[in-house]
Amino acid sequence: MRAVVYNGPRDVAVQDVPDARIEKPTDVLVRITSTNICGSDLHMYEGRTDFQPGSVFGHENLGQVAEVGSGVDRVKVGDWVAIPFNIGCGFCKNCERGLSAFCLTTADRSVMPNMAGAAYGFADMGPYRGGQADLLRVPYGDYNCLKLPPDAEEQQNDYVMLADIFPTGWHCTELAGLCPGESVVIYGAGPVGLMAAYSAMIKGACMVMVVDRHPDRLRLAGSIGALAIDDSKGSPVDQVLELTNGIGADRGCECVGYQAHDPGGEEHPNMTMNDLVKSVKFTGGIGVVGVYTPQDPAPQDPLYKQGEIVFDHGLFWFKGQHIGTGQCNVKAYNRQLRDLISTGRAKPSFIVSHELPLDEAPNAYQHFDARDDGWTKVVLKTAA
Ligand code: NAD
Ligand code: ZN
Repeated sequence: MRAVVYNGPRDVAVQDVPDARIEKPTDVLVRITSTNICGSDLHMYEGRTDFQPGSVFGHENLGQVAEVGSGVDRVKVGDWVAIPFNIGCGFCKNCERGLSAFCLTTADRSVMPNMAGAAYGFADMGPYRGGQADLLRVPYGDYNCLKLPPDAEEQQNDYVMLADIFPTGWHCTELAGLCPGESVVIYGAGPVGLMAAYSAMIKGACMVMVVDRHPDRLRLAGSIGALAIDDSKGSPVDQVLELTNGIGADRGCECVGYQAHDPGGEEHPNMTMNDLVKSVKFTGGIGVVGVYTPQDPAPQDPLYKQGEIVFDHGLFWFKGQHIGTGQCNVKAYNRQLRDLISTGRAKPSFIVSHELPLDEAPNAYQHFDARDDGWTKVVLKTAA
């Protein structure tokens, strides 16, 4: 099968690799039709994780079931399915509590002895190959395949967002504790930040502010009714305080991660975290879904080599704020969000700028990584 293979920093290629296949009775084999490039892939693409050369990318996957193992009951050959980026078992202590991002069964204990969580095509998240490929092996297929309605094939660009970024954006607003009628500031207008803004609009926030400096991304934020804040034109903290009568937003969302940088391009891994503490009100909540890694093999800030940041803990404590962090438990939200799509209440494909054949992945990675104007989200298609 063809697959998008990581060969080293900023070096990916579409190569022939051994076909994915059923390895356990509980596996489902999916013929992938749509698979996205994610901002998370870019941390790996840039060599800022310990993603191993030879690994296959791809954790935002949708396709049609090609084969099921003998122990699979619910999922049938021919079903259209969206596959959460997390690989859960469904029966461990964490999966049972809805924390499928922290599965204890599928985790790779060679990373650390108490490791929790697994994902496709992801640094440190187990040996599972990604779905930027013709075929994907889905472990515990009954649990991990979300069945899609009859319009799945036509609406792939909406439903494929259920694999990661729509639930992740939603999760960020949950971690922040957003309630209807509250205001929220979101740092980052990449696909994840835009999905957080979209989720906040659906939830009935009174004001959604989105901070970034790329005009194309800020325009998309504006198109769904959010207020665009351009941090290249002035301090985002000051702009948020001005819009909230000096009080700060009720809630804040971090949708950038450890490669946060100033508008000039210099990285400051603590930048958005400290800006959030300053731009969220006393007693407000902060959700952090932007990725922070325990190590960075090529840090711009030497402190971050071990994942450490200079955090404004004093002000955070003084303001009585709280923070929720981590990978999204996609299974906690994907059914409900699927139903918002199928009833026409949500159309997350508004962020898609490029639909490209899988073979054009190297070029697509280059443009998306450069955050080139107009490259807001890429969906790769396996059909010729
Ligand atoms: P992206 O890189 O396309 O978008 C990030 C955006 O942040 C860019 O538009 C960039 O201009 C902006 N930015 C950079 N520094 C900034 C700053 N100081 N202030 C404001 N904006 C700033 O990536 P994405 O796909 O939107 O993903 C965002 C983050 O979410 C990544 O770290 C990704 O790994 C992570 N992620 C986490 C989960 C999860 O489950 N927790 C899931 C998916 C993605
Ligand atoms: Zn992703």
